[in-house]
Amino acid sequence: MSCQNIAILGSTGSIGVSTLDVIRRHPERYRAYALCAYSRADELFAQCREFQPAYAAVGDAALAADLAGRCRAAGLATEVRSGALALVELSALPEVDAVMAAIVGAAGLEPTLAAARAGKKIMLANKEVLVMAGELFMQTVRQHGAALLPVDSEHNAIFQALPDDFSRGLAACGVRRILLTASGGPFRDTPSADLLQVTPEQACAHPNWVMGRKISVDSASMMNKGLEVIEARWLFNAAPEQIEVVVHPQSVMHSAVQYKDGSVLAQLGRPDMRTPIAYALAWPERIDAGVEPLDLLAVGRLDFAPPDFARFRCLQLAYEALGAGGTAPAILNAANEVAVAAFLDRRLSFTGIAEVNEAVLQSLPSGPEGSLADVLAADAAARRSAAKMIAERPWP
Ligand code: NAD
Ligand code: MG
Repeated sequence: MSCQNIAILGSTGSIGVSTLDVIRRHPERYRAYALCAYSRADELFAQCREFQPAYAAVGDAALAADLAGRCRAAGLATEVRSGALALVELSALPEVDAVMAAIVGAAGLEPTLAAARAGKKIMLANKEVLVMAGELFMQTVRQHGAALLPVDSEHNAIFQALPDDFSRGLAACGVRRILLTASGGPFRDTPSADLLQVTPEQACAHPNWVMGRKISVDSASMMNKGLEVIEARWLFNAAPEQIEVVVHPQSVMHSAVQYKDGSVLAQLGRPDMRTPIAYALAWPERIDAGVEPLDLLAVGRLDFAPPDFARFRCLQLAYEALGAGGTAPAILNAANEVAVAAFLDRRLSFTGIAEVNEAVLQSLPSGPEGSLADVLAADAAARRSAAKMIAERPWP
């Protein structure tokens, strides 16, 4: 097979670094063609030196000028660009075969949409894209013949457990429901009363996965699982009642599909994102991901429990936003991004995240999802509302 050119949006993040690790193992199959980061220019420069991409991009012009100078001095032919528009351009370059969408949050929406419009193969880690604009994004993917491979471990597991032609409808394929597993995060057994005092460090110390800070906090509040319910709704055209969240503390079974005949097909593996990344890169083939084989005897047991919707209010809010439809999920997502940033900044308590999310979701009317402009307007309004609430109310 010929070597594929890969663009990585968010190359310095947790998913980006894992993607480069898989690419490093298969230089004959993949070339890191464009590397995009936001502010970590030193890390991006180190990546440029190792992978010699044709393009690199950073958040602002000053960082780009500095990076370009360093690349030139190191004898690299990498062309450096900057700003949000550069991400949109690099995702759609004719030479790019596949795009790893691994930016965190709403910032990834426009470049990922651009990749879809250009008919690329999209490896989607950036779940916020589907939460904000699921209908628009899926429509764009279909219209332009893009291929969409889920990277989120649960959705990658579900994709592996579904038949190839699942897009003709889950019921038609004999699917009863999707079992979306959740580790329960670091506060799975923490009593409600103690959640008020938890710190960003405690929230980011996930028991099974090492991830970026935003998704770590989302895992602790179970907002992450809520976002994943919405993600599953769009990826697999599933009704909300076809998606059941199951708490599974070991994070070994990454999700499953239950069929009408009583069969449950699950994907198991170590909690290492290089497995779903390698799957998405090589699909429909399988390649070495650098992941140790799963030792079931060492795992010993697999536990399952229902989620606690009262203690993890954010999960309930996601189902409510999904039920309301239109721009409600985009509103919830934007409020949550602002609330999580405030919590990480110690301007909001951990329990305040769910309170802000709920208050913003209730206070803003949800309109039809419609166009990108509608989604971005709802996102902006929710951000303003959340920021105001956090600034005005005293948070213990
Ligand atoms: P991270 O914080 O480690 O990395 C984020 C990356 O995005 C960085 O490279 C950063 O430079 C870039 N970025 C941030 N803001 C940007 C902006 N405004 N413009 C351009 N680039 C920007 O995050 P992560 O843990 O790698 O997560 C990335 C995405 O993948 C998230 O949507 C997350 O939910 C999803 N995801 C992550 C994991 C995981 O194990 N880390 C698992 C499943 C899904
Ligand atoms: Mg996940």
